[in-house]
Amino acid sequence: MPIVWIDPGHGGRDSGATGNGLLEKDVVLALSVAIKRKLEAEYDGVQVLMSRDRDVFLELSERTNAANRSGADILVSIHCNAGGGNGGFESFRYTSVSSTTVNLHDALHAEIMKALAPFNVIDRGVKSQNLHMLRESRMPAVLTENLFIDVASDANKLKNPDVINALVNGHVNGIARHLGLTRKGGTPQMDKANVIAYGKEIQNGLIINNTVYVPLRALAEASGDRVAWDNQTKTATVTKPQ
Ligand SMILES: [Zn+2]
Repeated sequence: MPIVWIDPGHGGRDSGATGNGLLEKDVVLALSVAIKRKLEAEYDGVQVLMSRDRDVFLELSERTNAANRSGADILVSIHCNAGGGNGGFESFRYTSVSSTTVNLHDALHAEIMKALAPFNVIDRGVKSQNLHMLRESRMPAVLTENLFIDVASDANKLKNPDVINALVNGHVNGIARHLGLTRKGGTPQMDKANVIAYGKEIQNGLIINNTVYVPLRALAEASGDRVAWDNQTKTATVTKPQ
């Protein structure tokens, strides 16, 4: 069962960014708790662990030590931004990462921007930076900066429950997409796959929960193999031609 580690930034005596009547530590805790609830409520076989589920101070090393000990498969650190300007959403990975981390980062960023589409949020882009949470986490890790606390137009959005919902949905959809999670009681995630085997196009390829499925006979015969089908035992046998 995949384990997702959600790290709400700051907490306790560390408020994070403040402004426009908002404390970053409160906004990110609310987002994180809602992400955990929705992921576990709507998807099969996923467990969400958190660095904190209340207003408590934690050192960065306490967060990554706990996440590394937990055996979590991915880590998402949730923050809000500050520094003025025009505001917007941006996300980070470490400066040198695996392709799995790039996949997680791209899925999260794309799904969050898609969910934010109705709210006119500036896309500041997919970025890499040498940050403790990204460098010291042993699993693929991404940090999201969910709008600017100190930019009035962004702060107003963070006070809008529809924008909070969109941020939650974007994180949930990105994590589910990356891990290939199955919706509870629903059909598996399915998409069309283009498959070229031995220079031939194989029709009717499908991606089901992150795995590519193709009609066996078409694939085997493309390489010159033979397929025998026993309908009684539902067994396909692939052999090299003699
Ligand atoms: Zn922060």
